[in-house]
Amino acid sequence: MTAMPDFTADLAHADDDTIRAAVAHAELPALLPALAAATGDLSLVPEHLRPNAATLMDPTGGLTGEQQDEARRLGFEALVRLRDEGAPDDLPVPDEDTLRALLEFASGGAPVDDYMELLREELNIGDDPRTPSWRKDDVAPDRTFRVAVIGAGMSGLVAAHRLHQAGVDVVVLEKNHDVGGTWLENVYPGCRVDVSNLFYSYSFAQRDDWPEHFSSQRVLLDYFRTVAESSGIKDLIRFDTEVTSVEFDDDAKTWTLQVVTTDGREEAIEANAVVSAVGQLNRPSLPDIPGVERFEGPAFHSARWDHGVDLAGKRVAVIGTGASAAQFFPVIADVAAQLTVFQRTPAWFIPAPNYTEQIGPEVRWLRRHVPGYTHWSRFWVFWRSVEGMMPFATVDPEWDQGERSVSAQNDFMREMLSGYLTAQFAGHPDLVEKVVPQYPPFSKRFILDDGAWARTLTRDDVTLVTDGIAEVTATGVRTVDGTLHEADVIIYGTGFKAADFLMPMKVVGRGGSDLHEHWAGDARAYLGITLPGFPNFFMLYGPNTNIVVNGSIIYFSECEVHFVVGCVRALLETGASALDTLPSVHEAYNERIDAANLRMAWGVSKVNSWYKNATGRTAQNWPFSLLEYWQQTREPRLEDFELLR
Ligand SMILES: Cc1cc2nc3c(=O)[nH]c(=O)nc-3n(C[C@H](O)[C@H](O)[C@H](O)COP(=O)(O)OP(=O)(O)OC[C@H]3O[C@@H](n4cnc5c(N)ncnc54)[C@H](O)[C@@H]3O)c2cc1C
Repeated sequence: MTAMPDFTADLAHADDDTIRAAVAHAELPALLPALAAATGDLSLVPEHLRPNAATLMDPTGGLTGEQQDEARRLGFEALVRLRDEGAPDDLPVPDEDTLRALLEFASGGAPVDDYMELLREELNIGDDPRTPSWRKDDVAPDRTFRVAVIGAGMSGLVAAHRLHQAGVDVVVLEKNHDVGGTWLENVYPGCRVDVSNLFYSYSFAQRDDWPEHFSSQRVLLDYFRTVAESSGIKDLIRFDTEVTSVEFDDDAKTWTLQVVTTDGREEAIEANAVVSAVGQLNRPSLPDIPGVERFEGPAFHSARWDHGVDLAGKRVAVIGTGASAAQFFPVIADVAAQLTVFQRTPAWFIPAPNYTEQIGPEVRWLRRHVPGYTHWSRFWVFWRSVEGMMPFATVDPEWDQGERSVSAQNDFMREMLSGYLTAQFAGHPDLVEKVVPQYPPFSKRFILDDGAWARTLTRDDVTLVTDGIAEVTATGVRTVDGTLHEADVIIYGTGFKAADFLMPMKVVGRGGSDLHEHWAGDARAYLGITLPGFPNFFMLYGPNTNIVVNGSIIYFSECEVHFVVGCVRALLETGASALDTLPSVHEAYNERIDAANLRMAWGVSKVNSWYKNATGRTAQNWPFSLLEYWQQTREPRLEDFELLR
């Protein structure tokens, strides 16, 4: 007879039944390398139990039932041995050969040599390998050098943290009253991250106790608050302080930031360098529909949710079916009397059965008590959700299927995802026609789904409207066929002004050049970070640093910050006042980016998406692997810049 598992016990005190019950819930592609790393026993990662990279959607890594049984038996036995012999207090740091063997296993046999260093950082093997290896006092003790960071969202926090670690004088200017940016402002019902928190977290602040697989807004906000406190940067932040303009002084080679506080005080702040961390998804976009101002009931955008409006018993119109709408729509359907959702373009949905679930006791136990399990689970998310996905998004020039798909692998994805949607909407052929996209997967961002989309749209009190909107009237929304869809409340799930990078802040560079005039609606940058004519002006989450496959923006921001910290070090070491990107470097880089984006589904598809700006150029997305972004942001190459003295 088996006893009840006791998940309050740590590994040293866990009985066999507890270990067995936990292992039954383990992600095997993470469990085996974690145990091999902890024990040094590479027989735990045999070739025949490697996950299959072609079955990326399957958390078991495509192992057959028999393989899973064997892997679980190996895992169980290794854990029992670890318990009996004593687990190491600190995670052993694997040597090169061991790490290579583990990565080859976990990646399903991919060539991993180039990934080794990156993964040491991402898995946080050792003692925070991304900590700056220098301090200002050692490099330039007598020089005054101040960096102004604009924004205390996820990106601004990591910039402040790393610069602070290097001993650089930092001030952070934040227009809100608190940290968190996106995760402070988006308080709509159901708001949560759509990549596992194992990866949507800082490499230096990983948690083994996330309560949910995909954390809700509240949990994320608490996380960013905690990081701001524990890293000691909270005191560097000036809240309620908006930067209205930044201007480069050609003579002094410094920047002046004009700020205004919420109580109306204005001030000028001087800095040697500026890091703009203002986000891409920070300014709500309202649709350009005639009559929006005529509506007599309450109306608001998802990012400015009005919790004072009681939706109970109301007729609610939701305009837009993007990522936010797909999250709040199922929640408010339970409250509203009637919901009408207006869809312009359907999204591809990816099945994620645990999307809104709490993490169960078994997985919590594994993460807390199996040495390295959390880290290897992070790797598994990294690998299968991003690097492994790239081939499915890449255009095959020989493939001639128009808007259906861009390659055989992409077509495979389409078959799988349309099969999912068709099954979800079984018995509703009218809806199937409306919800299955006509464009290739990866042209727009996927939406994760635990079945809520179909459950909600098939309710009697919910209507999906796909006719175009003609106008908003005093009492509702009229579609082009003349029908008036009456509503008491309108909610806009219409996204953000993502193409308006850095707006409405005025940025004036060398010779009085205005950034927004310079860009003229087509923002570009070198590595998404710098651009010619704006010396020592660094952007985080800038042009072409966004993701389509379900990666994490945190990864990009950490890489960007690493580059910025490298630039500051170069300035201090060379004694130069400022670094200005060479136009030739910037142009060559952007040509490469544009050409590569045209080899990706999101670049060639004709579907409307916020990834493209008004010129039709993909200004948002990074078209290469995560590895490549890491490689390019390792160190600034001084030959790419003019050094201003
Ligand atoms: C609803 C939603 C869900 C998302 N889900 C995911 C996801 O699942 N995975 C993912 O990787 N990304 C996701 N994102 C993208 C998300 O924006 C990034 O992951 C991340 O939060 C960006 O952080 P940031 O610091 O760069 O920008 P933000 O979070 O936007 O923070 C910018 C900060 O700058 C401040 N600021 C702006 N202008 C000024 C100014 N002029 N002066 C002073 N302060 C200023 C703002 O107040 C804000 O605090 C999501 C975004 C949204 C809106």
